[in-house]
Amino acid sequence: MIKSILQNIFNTEEIKPIAIQCLWNSDWEYIGLTIDLIFKKNNSYSKQNIAELEYQKFESEEALLQEAEKIIKAYTEKYDIELYFPSPDKWSRDCPDYWESKTAPKCEDCKTPIIPTKSIYLPKEVCYPCHLEREQNNKIKSEEQYDNGVQMYLAKNNEYENIGYCSYFKDFTIAPFINDKVQKQFNENVINVVTLHKSDILELNEDLEKALNEKLAVYEKPVIGEAEKKFTRTYKIEYKGIEYELYSRFNSAHNEISNLISALKKSQKALQNDYVYEIYFKKGFTHRDDSLLRFVNYACKGSSSIEKIMEKYKDVMSETEISTTINKLVKIGCLVINGNFVTVTTTGKNIV
Ligand SMILES: [Zn+2]
Repeated sequence: MIKSILQNIFNTEEIKPIAIQCLWNSDWEYIGLTIDLIFKKNNSYSKQNIAELEYQKFESEEALLQEAEKIIKAYTEKYDIELYFPSPDKWSRDCPDYWESKTAPKCEDCKTPIIPTKSIYLPKEVCYPCHLEREQNNKIKSEEQYDNGVQMYLAKNNEYENIGYCSYFKDFTIAPFINDKVQKQFNENVINVVTLHKSDILELNEDLEKALNEKLAVYEKPVIGEAEKKFTRTYKIEYKGIEYELYSRFNSAHNEISNLISALKKSQKALQNDYVYEIYFKKGFTHRDDSLLRFVNYACKGSSSIEKIMEKYKDVMSETEISTTINKLVKIGCLVINGNFVTVTTTGKNIV
């Protein structure tokens, strides 16, 4: 009798899991991968957590997944059980627990079992990443205009250092100081590259210094009462040997000082090292152009066969539309064609 009770306790404690489950767990501030063992007893399921891998503690998503793989391997080998990891490639996809996965709705596009969103703004039939892809594809299909996005570089002998990106030119700190020079260089091209040469940069540098000195003349040090200490962050910045303490947020005067100092550092770097400024504008660019150029530049690492591009866009554009897009990108200097291959040019790289 005693022996059989002991046996039972032993059996319940040693109950074998039926699967190992990996689900992403995310909100606005946190991304983690939760790894659980799944147990089944009398038709009811339970899970036991064995690891929580926090995204921020890893160098990359790849490193996190490698760690997960080690844990998964240890358990699948020990118990010879099934792995349930429905969304290894996308943390933004919400998936159900193992025991609900067979009956849960599947995303219409990727067929992954999903927990349909409760948001009234999002469709319920697809997962979030597929929803984004559908939206993007619609923009490509309808040839939606995409002229937003201005890139700024320091350039010398075909070497480029990106020093800023803004959706609109006016958002750059230096925009008001160089606007006239920029407008004068505009032409009818789809890609406009505006260059600031040494004399322009000297002038810019002088204007920035003047504007900064005006701001510093009326600079006020933060005064923080005991009660506000918890909620207020400040930082220190040095300019011409003097240290200034600045509010990190919600203070436009301090914000401008900080932006001007950082713009001035760039103009001084340009002058000291003989760089020019190159600013890239688009006019008449579309989501079609942008997507195809990004595909060749990032997914294909700068060069791709035309067949590969046709395959990638076969459900979104006709072959004629794809060829027209490639030809446009060649014409505006973003791609070059060599036989069956296309390669991204420096201009192409610099706008995506
Ligand atoms: Zn999906």
